[in-house]
This record gives sequence, structure tokens and C-alpha cells, in this order.
Amino acid sequence: MYINGEWRNALSKKSFESINPATGEVIDTVPDGNAEDATLAIDAANNAFPSWAGKTAYERSAILYKAWQLMIQRKGELARLMTIEQGKPLRAAANETQYAADFLLWYAEEAKRVYGETIPSARGDQRFIISKAPVGVVAAITPWNYPISMLTRKLGPALAAGCTVVLKPAEATPLCAIAVYKILEEAGVPPGVINLVTAKDPKPIGDVFTSDPRIAKITFTGSTAVGRTLAKEAGHNLKRISMELGGHAPFIVWEDADPTHAAKGASLVKFLNTGQACISPNRMFVHENQAEAYVAELTSRVERLRAGNGLDDGIGIGPLVNEAAVAKVERQVEDARSKGAKVMCGGHRLMESGLDKGHFYAATVLTDVTPDMLIYREETFGPVAAVVPFRDGDDVLAMANDTPYGLAAYVYTNDIAKAMRTVEGLNFAIIGVNDINPTSAAAPFGGMKSSGLGREGGHEGIEEYLESKTAGFSI
Ligand code: NAD
Repeated sequence: MYINGEWRNALSKKSFESINPATGEVIDTVPDGNAEDATLAIDAANNAFPSWAGKTAYERSAILYKAWQLMIQRKGELARLMTIEQGKPLRAAANETQYAADFLLWYAEEAKRVYGETIPSARGDQRFIISKAPVGVVAAITPWNYPISMLTRKLGPALAAGCTVVLKPAEATPLCAIAVYKILEEAGVPPGVINLVTAKDPKPIGDVFTSDPRIAKITFTGSTAVGRTLAKEAGHNLKRISMELGGHAPFIVWEDADPTHAAKGASLVKFLNTGQACISPNRMFVHENQAEAYVAELTSRVERLRAGNGLDDGIGIGPLVNEAAVAKVERQVEDARSKGAKVMCGGHRLMESGLDKGHFYAATVLTDVTPDMLIYREETFGPVAAVVPFRDGDDVLAMANDTPYGLAAYVYTNDIAKAMRTVEGLNFAIIGVNDINPTSAAAPFGGMKSSGLGREGGHEGIEEYLESKTAGFSI
């Protein structure tokens, strides 16, 4: 753990293992922190806050810029660690590391653009000056699926704004978090400004974060269920929150779209990170006239995806995070099959050639998926493409919006008016139009409805860590 600028063990001296999900091997052990460790970390962050907030934006920016340079220099090394600890193929891990570094650069730049306002007063003898101040000590909780970029997406804007941070990474990927912290330390972040508490059991740490009065804000990325609990507790104690939660993305292919192009996009975005992404398409609504060509192209691409250890050449799909994740996928596929869905490829665990040592499920395409199936309602978080053919007259937008989630959506059409109407009609906050990667450090990312509150990235991202201060001057 990293507290007040020192690398240390848990007070209890306990530790836990980080395990490679592709091989089941122990990679290393890390300190198993508890509530007391979290409180020490908050002490450090609280003590460091005045001097960090008091630095100029230019000083904070220079440190973030240095961290960006170091992350780019170590991209290969970080990607390798991520593949070993999280499982995604090496190339995807390198792409994620680049995305993670993008946030450090973006917020090194945004730090210098935290502008205020002057506002005319109704009184001739008064002037209003509005300035921005950092909210204070931030508690951050991050997931395992994007174990480096989800950290910099929070640490970048928090540090740029002048906040100090205590972070608890996911118990499945503590080593990636440690690697990010080593970079920030080397870049010159002063002691106490960023603190890291690793823990096997997240709940006691979450309880400290939501109850300690010195924490001004909780920023969380993870499941809707956990986010809801944290938001409730944080709300009771009137803390600010940002919640990046689950998704259930629709992927709409209109009748005029090119089904081959759409299927190519679908095969890339659905199986990215083995489907373990909050923006992963979970329901593919394909016009019935396009469905046959779309499913044929998608199936032929998916059949060619090789599963295995992400360090090996030619691997397109890595393991799932754990046994529970495999069991969830299995349950959704069996449920769909029993209710009439057709399995075009995959549809089973992978056990051969040593894959039984990890958590592998075959890349799967289901078609004829209907609303009574679990997969139509639940986030899968696994390698299953579920195709729902629709007819003229079906209200596809209503079908797409028929979910509590509102994170990402995708639409394929060659008709600009239809594209615009679809974007306007979808209750989702991130929409790809003939595009499978509508994300960037420069653009806001976040969800509507049960997918969360607040935005990360872009110029909006730093606002989440700032307060407005109104000063009325009598002159
Ligand atoms: P999770 O909610 O189980 O865990 C996320 C984090 O919360 C981990 O660090 C975990 O240790 C911690 N946590 C779990 N229980 C806690 C508790 N009681 N108190 C405090 N912390 C607790 O989610 P996960 O399975 O790791 O991640 C997958 C989920 O994250 C999916 O639903 C996915 O859609 C979502 N996600 C969302 C985004 C986004 O930006 N919207 C990005 C990535 C992942």
C-alpha cells in the first residue's frame, strides 16, 4: 500500500494473492488493508490537501505531464502486467495503457483551464466573482476490467483540480494499481497527495470512505448494485458522488445499413476484453432483411477468434475474471437456448489445451433472442453476441430503451436523418453512429438512468472535482 509517500504493509500484516485468470497461477501477494489502514490513508490525504490545493495549476500540470511521459515510456511493461493480471490480449492491454495515459495528458492541459466568471450584479455598488475550488479529499474505488485507465480517469482530473486522493483498486487487479502509483510517485506527486489501500474485502474500506467526514467526494466505477449502496451511504452523509455503473448497450442495425460493415464492428466491440466492458453491446437489434447476412458475417468472424493466454501471439479473446463470471455467462446462454435462441457458434466453456486452468468461455453468437430471455434483460459481461431480429413496424427505439441502463448505444445506418433521429430517441449517454469506439479522454463518458451519475473525461470531467465559490464585493 502507499500511504503518505511510503510503501508499506497492512497494519494487520495480512496479505492476499493476485492471480492470473488465464492460468490460475499466483502472480504476487499484496497487503490486505482494513478500515484502520483506510483511516490512516485519509489522515495523510487530509494533511496534504492544503499544500496541494495551494500549488499553482502550472505546478500540478507539470507533474501530470511527467506522469504521462513515464506511462508512455513504460507502455509495453504496463501492458504485459495487465495481460498477466487481468487477462486481456497484449495488444488490447497496450491500447488501454495508451487510453490511460491520454487522461494524464488531457488533465495536465485542463488543469490550466479552470476558469471562473464575473457576473453583473443588480446593485451598482456590487461585483460578483465566481471562482473554482477543489472539493477536498476524494475517495476512489475502481474495477478490474480496465485496471489502469479507470484509475487515471479519476486521478488525472482529481489531481489537476487540486484534490488529494485515497484509492481502493479492485481486489483482482491490485498490481496494476501499484504500477500506476509508482509512476505518479516518480513523476513527483508529493507524499500524502495520492494514497493506495489494497484490500481483499472491499466493504470495510467502502464503509470508511462513506462515513469519514473528511472525505468530500466518492468516485466509483463498478456494478450498479455496489454503486447504489455507496451512493445511499454517501448521500446520507452529504458527500458528492460520481458513479460510473453498469450498461446494457443496444446495437441497432437499420434496414439501409451495410450488414457486413455492421457485423465487423459488432465482432470487434462485443468481444473487446472478452465482453467485460460496460459499453459492450448486449442486445443487437438487426432488421430482419439484414439479419441473415449480419449473423453470417458475425459468426464467421467470431469463429476465427482464438481464445487463450493473452501473452501468446494471435489471441483474440482472453479469460473471464473468475468462475462466477463463467457461471453467469453459462446461465444466460442455457436460458436463451431453452427458450428458443439458436446458437450459431460457441455456447460452451473451453476446457481443452490447458484452458481449464483459467476461466474461459467460447466466443458465442446467439440469434432469435427474445425479451423473455435473461440475456435480453441482464448485463452479460462475457463473450456472447445476442441478436434480436426486428420487423418493420417494431418500435426499435422503445425496445432499445426498455432497460434501466443508459450508458452506451450503437446505431448503423446510411441515412443521416435516421441516424440523427436515433441518437435523439435513445436514452443513452454515449452513442456510436457507424462507429464502435465513441470514447476518448477528450469526450465526456458516463451514464443516464441506472448507469450512473456524473461524467468522466473531457472538460466536464474536471468539474466533478471542483466547487463554485461566489464572492460578492461591495465597492
Ligand atoms: P463491482 O461493483 O463488484 O466492483 C467494483 C469495485 O467496487 C471493486 O473495487 C470492488 O472491490 C468494489 N466493491 C465491491 N463491493 C464493495 C462494497 N460493498 N463497498 C465498497 N467497494 C466495493 O464491479 P466489478 O465486477 O468489479 O466491475 C464490473 C462492473 O463495472 C460492471 O457492471 C461494469 O459495467 C461496470 N463498469 C462501469 C464502467 C463505467 O464507466 N460506467 C467502467 C467499467 C466497469
